[in-house]
Amino acid sequence: MRCLTSKAAEVRANKPLRGGSVAVRTVLQLGDPGLREIAARVSDPASVEIRALVQDLGDTLAHWRAATGYGRGIAAPQIGAARRVIFLQLPGVDAWPLVNPEITWRSEDKIVVWDACLSFLSIFMQVERHREIVVRYQDLHGEWKEVRASEERDLSELLQHEIDHLDGILAIDRVTDMRTMCTREEFEKRYRAQSPYAVAGTKS
Ligand SMILES: [Zn+2]
Repeated sequence: MRCLTSKAAEVRANKPLRGGSVAVRTVLQLGDPGLREIAARVSDPASVEIRALVQDLGDTLAHWRAATGYGRGIAAPQIGAARRVIFLQLPGVDAWPLVNPEITWRSEDKIVVWDACLSFLSIFMQVERHREIVVRYQDLHGEWKEVRASEERDLSELLQHEIDHLDGILAIDRVTDMRTMCTREEFEKRYRAQSPYAVAGTKS
């Protein structure tokens, strides 16, 4: 935790930290009202502004991933930009920005999974998510696309987590049982081997 705290302080002190073309932005932490705002729709996904925002999201996520070992996705409100943009970086595949993403279908079937967030990485918790969803979104050319996400690569839960951020909803709001909450140290000691981990299945 000491390492994480000092890294976070370092990022905060250099806001934004531009070295060459790299821009690491401060990640808002739990309690910052910016995390509870409803993000605005993006009218032009192909704009310079959105391209720069996506670059910052990618750089910031990469920084956190390197510093902490966590972070597969990030949402624009987490870096103080109240716009409907999320950014995923799954292992071994290209970076994936989604503009104006919306969930158009949710399976009735639900799963309980471990979750955490770059905005409160000291706490881990179990949350309930839909097992499968369909998401409609725009790419950076403004083209509409659709993706069906399942438990494969834990994509469904990740998209639900990140899209929630656009409506000011945090993983802690989805906790199924407060008694499952644990510190990062305890999570890593006891549960990480199963991660990222569907721990139970429930039918709605
Ligand atoms: Zn998050």
